[in-house]
Amino acid sequence: MDPINTAEGMEGEDRSVVSAAPTQPVIELPKRPYRTRGGVHPPHHKNTAKAASEEMPTPARVVISMQQHIGKPCEPLVKAGDTVTVGQKIADSDTFVCSPIHASVSGKVKRIGSLLLPNGTEVQTVEIEADGLQTVCPEIAPPQVETPEELYLAVRESGLVGLGGAGFPVSVKLNFNSNRHEDMPLRKVDTLVINGAECEPYLTADCREMLESPQDVIEGARFLLRMLRLRRVIIGVEANKPEAIALLRMVISARGLEKRICVLKLRAAYPQGAEKILVKACTDRTVPIGKIPADVGCIVMNVTSVGFLARYLRTGMPLVTKRITVDGTAIAQPKNVIVPIGTSVADAADFCGGFREEPRKIVMGGPMMGTALYTMEYPIIKQNNGLVFMGQAEAAAGQPTDCIRCGRCVAACPMYLTPVNIQHLVEQRDKAGIEEINVKGCMECGCCAYVCPAHRPLVQFMRLAKTL
Ligand code: SF4
Ligand code: SF4
Repeated sequence: MDPINTAEGMEGEDRSVVSAAPTQPVIELPKRPYRTRGGVHPPHHKNTAKAASEEMPTPARVVISMQQHIGKPCEPLVKAGDTVTVGQKIADSDTFVCSPIHASVSGKVKRIGSLLLPNGTEVQTVEIEADGLQTVCPEIAPPQVETPEELYLAVRESGLVGLGGAGFPVSVKLNFNSNRHEDMPLRKVDTLVINGAECEPYLTADCREMLESPQDVIEGARFLLRMLRLRRVIIGVEANKPEAIALLRMVISARGLEKRICVLKLRAAYPQGAEKILVKACTDRTVPIGKIPADVGCIVMNVTSVGFLARYLRTGMPLVTKRITVDGTAIAQPKNVIVPIGTSVADAADFCGGFREEPRKIVMGGPMMGTALYTMEYPIIKQNNGLVFMGQAEAAAGQPTDCIRCGRCVAACPMYLTPVNIQHLVEQRDKAGIEEINVKGCMECGCCAYVCPAHRPLVQFMRLAKTL
């Protein structure tokens, strides 16, 4: 029996391990994950988990989007005709919530263009014709980082954003008191939670990071532990990645870091990797609606982000490539591919042998929370961790019928919401009723829609509810 689903596995049980010597502060590392609510069990389809990542040859051109993070888009620092080198900063912004963008290939800027995002907004792009030489920018050098302030500046310059899909600038996340209201107490963060859950079907890019670069992950974790004066690091990995769990634990043990860093084997259930769910599972702390993990003493970082940070501190090379999982029933050769940022979806598909059937739907990210694309020319961005090419049968959507009030959507919702009621309130345009329900707590994970036997478009209803 799964202990986290039993009464014994719930609150009140002493799970902490007091593992410090008498003269050291007590460090609590959990032995087992804490209970989280709801969730679903879609087929894992982790077809590429065991295949080593392949590096894609430099494409003939890349189109680099100026919107690769949450926040205001960057402005290009280059113009048509300029020569650029790999790692050269080509775009930035003076806004706080922003992350600069770097050239992923060497070559010539062909033009400053524009890109229609799937949400209907338009952003600028820098289109670079590659010269195939991959000349590295001469200014690339490992940064000197001795203080949290220097860490913030270095991480900002690296262009690192949350690589799990969110795209939040990591420098802002590490500067955890920066967005605090004046009347709020200073945030005291003691725990780094590293997200290695990778709960979306198909995606295995983070799994490959843990298998191919476990030393980088632990080195990055150790560095953040020291630099931010944290008490502990908890790496949450779903139970369907036993090799990754074993490998990380081996590295932790070999470095004598067991008292500070642990790997927690999480239940393999979607959306275990959602920030608030992960914090609950790893620390038993609940992030209130409208708050961030730092408000309950945690920073959450994606495992590939932590691995990248270690590499950046060693080499000074900013974020210019990304490992993505290319899979789905329509693709001929599913694989994990390391691509220069700005590579087109079409080029990535070609590298994976093209299609075995015409894709009916192309999803950037995982099938549960990813974004459907409208063109194969769309460029890969920093926070993209997968491309799922769905064939005819896989992409077929059920026809919505009347709600049968079975309550499955309520049971599946990890945020204690009642999607069945919210959809009715939206249909009735009942603004007051919606305001009484915490619909802002909906993270649009899609669990409710996934389990609904009537195929109700519940996520769309949630989005509408937020706009009323
Ligand atoms: S799961 Fe679907 S059918 Fe069941 S109560 Fe929810 S909306 Fe209605
Ligand atoms: S999409 Fe929103 S309402 Fe539906 S299960 Fe996820 S959090 Fe709950």
